[in-house]
This record gives sequence, C-alpha cells and structure tokens, in this order.
Amino acid sequence: MKLLAGEIAEPPSSPTATLSQTSNLIDTLKSPRGNVVPLKDERGRKERFPVSDTSRDFRKRFFPEASADDWNDWRWQLRKRIRTSADLERVFVLSEDERTAVAQHKGSLPVGVTPYYASLMSRDNAFEALRRTHIPVGTEYLRTPGEADDPLGEDHDSAVPGLVHRYPDRVLFLSTGTCSTYCRYCTRSRMVGESGGEYSFSKSQWDKSFEYIEAHPEVRDVLISGGDPLTIGDDKLDYLLGRLRAIKHVEFVRLGTKVPVVLPQRITKALVKMLKRHHPLWMSIHFTRPEELTPEVTESTARLADAGIPLGSQTVLLKGINDEVAILKKLYHGLLMRRVKPYYLYQCDPITGSSHFRTSVAKGLEMIEGLRGHTTGYAVPQFVVDAPGGGGKIPLLPDYMAGRDGDDLLLRNFEGNTYRYPDPDGNLGNVMKTSGVI
Ligand code: SF4
Repeated sequence: MKLLAGEIAEPPSSPTATLSQTSNLIDTLKSPRGNVVPLKDERGRKERFPVSDTSRDFRKRFFPEASADDWNDWRWQLRKRIRTSADLERVFVLSEDERTAVAQHKGSLPVGVTPYYASLMSRDNAFEALRRTHIPVGTEYLRTPGEADDPLGEDHDSAVPGLVHRYPDRVLFLSTGTCSTYCRYCTRSRMVGESGGEYSFSKSQWDKSFEYIEAHPEVRDVLISGGDPLTIGDDKLDYLLGRLRAIKHVEFVRLGTKVPVVLPQRITKALVKMLKRHHPLWMSIHFTRPEELTPEVTESTARLADAGIPLGSQTVLLKGINDEVAILKKLYHGLLMRRVKPYYLYQCDPITGSSHFRTSVAKGLEMIEGLRGHTTGYAVPQFVVDAPGGGGKIPLLPDYMAGRDGDDLLLRNFEGNTYRYPDPDGNLGNVMKTSGVI
C-alpha cells in the first residue's frame, strides 16, 4: 500500500474490522489498494477511505484547492459536480458534438457528474464508454419510433404521486428526483434533476405513499428508488426506512442506487450503521463497466456487504459501451469478488432520445449465451425486457430447446451439443414444433 506524505491526517488508533477485511479482500482481488485518506461523515467525524492514484491525480490537477478530506466528503463531491459547459470544458476536451448537445440541453436529466466519477473517464476521447453514458451528444435529440418519455407507463401505474403499484405484492417508492450523476439513458429522465418541475418530491408526498402502503396489506415488498435514495441525508433516509419498517405487512425493503459506484464516499460508517437497523434490507446497485471496480468501490461494497446487506447488480445493456461478452464477464467476475451478485441485465428502455444506446434484443441473448455455461451461474444475470406500456419485466433466455424425439426431450447445451432427457410424460418439444416456435 502506497501512502502519500500528508495525506493521512488522522491515522486510526486501531484498524477497523471493515478496513482489515477489505484489505484482505483487496489482496485477493490483486487490485491496487489506493491511498487511504480520511473521509468525513455527516456529523463531521473522520474515517479512513481509499483514494486510488487515478482519483488523487485528478483531484490535484482539476481541484487543486481541495484537500484529501474534501475529496472524501460526499457532500463536497455533490457540491462540486460537473454540471455546466464551463465545468465540462475545464476537465474534458469536448467534441463539437458534445459541446452543441450540452448547450442545447433544457429541463430534466441535466448534466451532472461527481468529480470522483469524472476521474474514471477519458479527458480527450469523446467515444470512451463511461464518458458517453454521462455527457450528452446530438443523437440524444433524435426521436425514433416507439420511444416515449415514460415508456414503462409508470405514471399510469402510480397509485399516488411517487408510488408505482404495478405488481401484485410490491411497490416502487420514488423517494427523490436527485441523483449524484445523471445517466443519459435514464428510464426516469422525465423526472430526475429538475427542481420545481412537473415531478416534485416532498415529505407530504412520502406521507401519502406511507398511507397507501399501510392501507394495502398485500404490499410485502418496497423498492425505494428515485432518483437515487442514497443522495438523501442519513436522518431523512432513516426516517423513510423506519416508517416503512413500522408497517407490519412490509417484509422486505430494497434500495435501488448508483451511489456506491459513482459516489462511493457516501458509504460512510454512520450510513451503514443506520442501514443495519432496518434489516432485512437489500440493495440493487447500478453498474455499467469493469472500470468502475476501483479501490473506492471495493471499499463501498465491502462496507455494505459487511453490514449484512445482500447486494445485487443491475446493468443496462448499452450499444458500444458494454455489449460484449468479455466486458460483461469481467464486470461480473469483479462484482462476485466484491460480493455483489449480478442480478439483472436490462434491455435498454425505449426512452425518448435513446436510439444510440439501444442494441437489438438478440444482442442481449447473445450476452447470456456467451456467459451461461462458460462461467459460474452466479455470474449470469437474468436478461429482461421491461415491457413498454407497463407490462413489467419479461425474462428472455437463449433457446436451449432442440425439439423432441419420442419420449425424449432434446436439449442443446452451452457448447451447442444436443442431449436427450427422458421425458415420457411430457410433450414440450412437440408442442413447440406444432406451434411453429421451432
Ligand atoms: S442514477 Fe439511476 S435514476 Fe439517476 S440518472 Fe442514472 S439511471 Fe437515472
């Protein structure tokens, strides 16, 4: 571990469990540990948090006035987000396409990138993958058939504003319209990042959602999303989780977030201590590419996993960004090493202006086919299309059914070889042939 003179303001008296566990984990990961510098939690208490060489160099070059403490303060990261043309020009060599697209932008889904996440992007290559997911380009203003501002019909399925009740036993609780970074392909682009816009988020709105859930005993599962719920301060989030936990029929609460990836400094010890009080609590984390698996993210995921929070990943399949088996395999292997189970691979929703991000559906099946059998099943997420119009998630699998021969069902394995399974009571292969599926 390499430490920089003057970067550790306050060495801890004894290593914490999390840090020692993380250290072991990182040894196993054979990934650079980064420099450990203090992080400030909400109450101003300091703790240690890794800073990779990449992040440190970026801070010194683009935020020379910021101390290592500032860099590791998640509120500083939020305040210093790269949001305007001038901010972008200071860090990136913008292409003409990017410059025009940024100048043209109005309304929701603004530009917003934390300095930490910007440090992972290429400064001069407009085609670099992470940069493409966060800096607008002209094709974002193209409108193609089938696109919609609310393709999943969430507004239609809203029981009260900010609460989507689509599936029988669970609800989606939209807690905030704020994110720490704004993804250009966001399904909720209509509602995020615009204060005073059509979608507002307030305590009175939360109260209406609590009342609705209290009145619906069939709701056993609440997914808190947004926006990003981890941009909410600890006390308010504690209140939200506490109110949900107090509802007897709510058995299961999940947080959907990108913060552990784009603002890992937010995962303070105080936050995880608070989250632990609300178990069983699960978390779905939005990952895109293996470059996101930095020492900082190793620490944020370790803290959450050490707090007993089961972690799953959600990845949107994006054209030219992560639509290669080798990229996804590397990402998924890295996630498993960080105790994050690849959970969903999403077909990109047909959100307005998303044509440059969308692959064919066949590409998603190709990804699953390239993973299934070629690596552990734990590294294979479920590929889903969230059906436009509010149909919900529809899982898709490559076709492993090869037909039927008498009492035998014919199945194709991951190598393309056909095998027989004795299935005298079944008619599966026949039915498929008759129906013209095969
Ligand atoms: S973090 Fe999530 S909610 Fe926020 S912009 Fe990205 S995809 Fe949308």
